[in-house]
Amino acid sequence: MRTIESVAGLRAALAEARSEGKLIGFVPTMGFLHQGHLDLMRRAHSETDFVVISIFVNPLQFGPQEDFARYPRDMQRDSELAKGAGVDLLFAPELEEMYPVGDLATRVTVGRIGEVGEGRYRPGHFDGVATVCTKLFGMISPARCYFGEKDAQQLAVIRQIVRDLNIDVAIVGCPTTREEDGLAMSSRNKYLSDDQRRAAAILNRGLTQAAAVFATGERRADRLESVVREVVGEEPKVELQYVEACDSVTFERVEVASEGTVVQLAAFLGPTRLIDNITLS
Ligand code: AMP
Repeated sequence: MRTIESVAGLRAALAEARSEGKLIGFVPTMGFLHQGHLDLMRRAHSETDFVVISIFVNPLQFGPQEDFARYPRDMQRDSELAKGAGVDLLFAPELEEMYPVGDLATRVTVGRIGEVGEGRYRPGHFDGVATVCTKLFGMISPARCYFGEKDAQQLAVIRQIVRDLNIDVAIVGCPTTREEDGLAMSSRNKYLSDDQRRAAAILNRGLTQAAAVFATGERRADRLESVVREVVGEEPKVELQYVEACDSVTFERVEVASEGTVVQLAAFLGPTRLIDNITLS
């Protein structure tokens, strides 16, 4: 596995792989890798010939009160894990390499989908994601790009950008990798104390319970959301910020749930904000 920090170096390595006829797979990340990231990389490795991952903590997608400065980083460990998952090229640019002139004049804005659901609580977040991913697509031109359903609205945002801007890449959504007790893996789980870590399992229990109630025939979104609120409400260490049944493409809230509706939530455990979701079926 090669580690490259410059865009020029990245392009040269990719030109070489392409000249050998290799299909390029790409997994963008912010690093501090866990099993969920590694599952995306293994999937890329099984479906493409040359796997590129990026590790870049993107300031554009963090709000002023969010955890950009203290976001966990461990490049040495990440590098070893990526190598073990079959990654061929690790792209790890410095901030100046991604944003050389400081603030970018050109940005990608995603419109309404960036303002609903998760976007209501993180203004500008999805525009930041859209901008960095569009830059990465421009640098790498992957044939296939892998994203986790863990960030369901992000995945929908990426599908929208690729559709709207005619970017020639296949977007592959991959299932959420969970701990044994159901907690969705996340780099931010590192922030949790032992007690909070135990309590956090309630989030997936709430979502799973809502899905079970949906399976018995309940279609009213507010009832399904209430199920999550009640289950999560039993755990005093967890403060639910929102739970919302959303359309899987637009992420507008729905009144009536159906197959494919995404129930998503965010919750605080102390200062740590976690998100999770489940697709109803
Ligand atoms: P991040 O490093 O958090 O920006 O995530 C990088 C990619 O990994 C995104 O496509 C995420 O959706 C995906 N991802 C993060 N956590 C998980 C998980 N538990 N299961 C599957 N994919 C995940």
